[in-house]
Amino acid sequence: MAWKCPQCGFVHENDAVTVCEACGFVRAAGRLALVAEATGKRLAVGIDTAIGKQLLETFAGEDHVYATDPQFLLARDPVRGGWSLAPAPGAKNPTFLTGAALGTAPAPLEPGAVITIGPTRLRLRVENEP
Ligand SMILES: [Zn+2]
Repeated sequence: MAWKCPQCGFVHENDAVTVCEACGFVRAAGRLALVAEATGKRLAVGIDTAIGKQLLETFAGEDHVYATDPQFLLARDPVRGGWSLAPAPGAKNPTFLTGAALGTAPAPLEPGAVITIGPTRLRLRVENEP
């Protein structure tokens, strides 16, 4: 879906673009959903949220046992727009994003990405929440 920059009026054809190419305006991130592939249940997130074992147990199925509390942090990125994913300090098992281990810096989170613990456990698909 196209969107129009509220600051300069530039029209962007690609909805995945979060920063205005013409003036640098950053779009406010919408809500995000994590969809657990094991259960089909989803968790909608509208504010910066720490995700851990206790919360995962409510929607993500058996694999929540591999998580620590907290396991990772979802945060809106004020510079780039959109959302980012950061590993929580002290997590027992590493958090992976679409097959690659997270570094220490937050990684951009795009719809269609898959968050896992280790390379295969607790598959959570990232979607935009309408
Ligand atoms: Zn603009």
